[in-house]
Amino acid sequence: MTTGALPTQTLPELPRHDHGGCINKAIQIAETLCNDRGVRLTPIRRKVLELVWESHRAVKAYDLLDRIKPLETSAKPATVYRALDFLIEQGLIHRVESLNAFIGCNCSDHQHELLLLICNRCQEVEERPALEVMNAVAKEIAEAGFHVHRKAIEIHGLCAQCAALELVR
Ligand SMILES: [Zn+2]
Ligand SMILES: [Zn+2]
Ligand SMILES: [Zn+2]
Repeated sequence: MTTGALPTQTLPELPRHDHGGCINKAIQIAETLCNDRGVRLTPIRRKVLELVWESHRAVKAYDLLDRIKPLETSAKPATVYRALDFLIEQGLIHRVESLNAFIGCNCSDHQHELLLLICNRCQEVEERPALEVMNAVAKEIAEAGFHVHRKAIEIHGLCAQCAALELVR
């Protein structure tokens, strides 16, 4: 059994849910939030956000580039990277450092102090607010007098679905 990330072609099928609903909700939140903040969700930013939201799997920048090229022939890598930076800044997507990849965020009001549960089998990433954990972490950090640039806890393993599949093998 491999614990590393699987190549895209061999990813297992995921159970279906109304993912269209997830995408719609995410786009709606993005529009409201950008409107409130007076920043623009330009067509390319919106397209990149939609592509990140294609699934709950973390997606790498070069996969986004591959997918956006047929849609926006003029899209240069720099344009896509700038769109990603914007989306991260606005908290609409998160970078998963340990995978060097991105996931969409549809919690409009959390502080982006993240607990990320990363499935090594299906590569889905679940974001949990985990306030108590994060408050405890914040307390330790304050005691150390440490200045934080970025805070996220990334946990690798198997999601409930994949763990169940491993059991029946
Ligand atoms: Zn979904
Ligand atoms: Zn988030
Ligand atoms: Zn999984």
